[in-house]
Amino acid sequence: MAPCCVYGVTCPDNGFITGMRIFIRQVVRMEIDLFYTDGGASFKDAVARRLGRTFGLEARDRGRMRIYEGAWNERRRQYDAYVLLDHLVRCMKSDTAIWLVDPDIFCENVNFVFGLAMYHIAAVVSVFRLDTPGMVVKETIHEAGHILGLPHCRNHCVMRFSNSYEDALLKPDIPCMACRRKLDRKIVEPGMRM
Ligand SMILES: [Zn+2]
Ligand SMILES: [Zn+2]
Repeated sequence: MAPCCVYGVTCPDNGFITGMRIFIRQVVRMEIDLFYTDGGASFKDAVARRLGRTFGLEARDRGRMRIYEGAWNERRRQYDAYVLLDHLVRCMKSDTAIWLVDPDIFCENVNFVFGLAMYHIAAVVSVFRLDTPGMVVKETIHEAGHILGLPHCRNHCVMRFSNSYEDALLKPDIPCMACRRKLDRKIVEPGMRM
């Protein structure tokens, strides 16, 4: 089993997760904080450019954030994506953030994940299994889509759920028209599931 990501995680420390709405059209240029580990740093510029081009997000370079050793799982020999995401949410200073990390990450019941996002708040992306800058960019765009409130999509679309590396390879790195319309129109309610 090799899924792409999980989303909609709730964090007890995030009082603002409920009731928050993002009105894209009212925000001239939404900013997002970009953190990275040493191994994730080489992708930051490509990711920042594409966040701007695809979603109009202005990525602010927040510098290096070392991997959080509290997320290490000795039995799995991987880092727990939920714990890393929770760490990011505790450390971030603004409303939204992405953290590019280099070690392999997992979620309960799955072998690994490329990334994990919390609706409207934050995402962690692991570059470990993504062997090209293009794939790192694609998965980061996918997780950023979740941050903007997009659920998974069945179209030929970056928001398509990937069950394997091959799935991720085949999907495009841009959102489909339906997803674009959702972003233009609304505004996806927090807590919405698909
Ligand atoms: Zn996803
Ligand atoms: Zn779509």
